[in-house]
Amino acid sequence: MTLEEVNKQIKNCRKCRLWQNAKHAVPGEGPVKAKLMLVGQNPGANEDKTGKPFIGRAGKFLNKVLAKNNINREEVFVTNIVKHVSPENRKPLPDEIAACAPYLEDQIRTIKPKLVVLMGKVAWKAPRVEGVTYVETYHPSAAMRFTKMRERFLEDFSTIKKHRIQ
Ligand code: URA
Repeated sequence: MTLEEVNKQIKNCRKCRLWQNAKHAVPGEGPVKAKLMLVGQNPGANEDKTGKPFIGRAGKFLNKVLAKNNINREEVFVTNIVKHVSPENRKPLPDEIAACAPYLEDQIRTIKPKLVVLMGKVAWKAPRVEGVTYVETYHPSAAMRFTKMRERFLEDFSTIKKHRIQ
């Protein structure tokens, strides 16, 4: 399967209720040859408006952390476990996560990154693909808000380079 084919399926997806409330699906963004993939929860309002992942407050914080660690966001595939916004930005429900997770698995199998960083508890539920290393860290929104989580988030990102992702 190609990345375009997966993205097309995501855009046409009606497997759960979330599409009804969304302006855009947000399949993710980045090169098909990315060695590093970052996975968040699901798009927020800004992402829903534009179809692009992590462009709001959490995205700006993430950009700063990437820059601090000399990781070029343009070389990273950035996505979410759930590809549509949820009503009032609530947490995606278990059946929504279950319906959407196979798209992430297809993206991982297509891109074959060395490392997948799962950001936040919802993303930790991501399907594991053999041959790929996974790191579980906090969601950037939580890292922005809580000192302890921020320290751990920054520590996790500073060790990412050891995985030879560039
Ligand atoms: N939060 C997420 O989990 N994903 C986004 O794309 C934006 C905010």
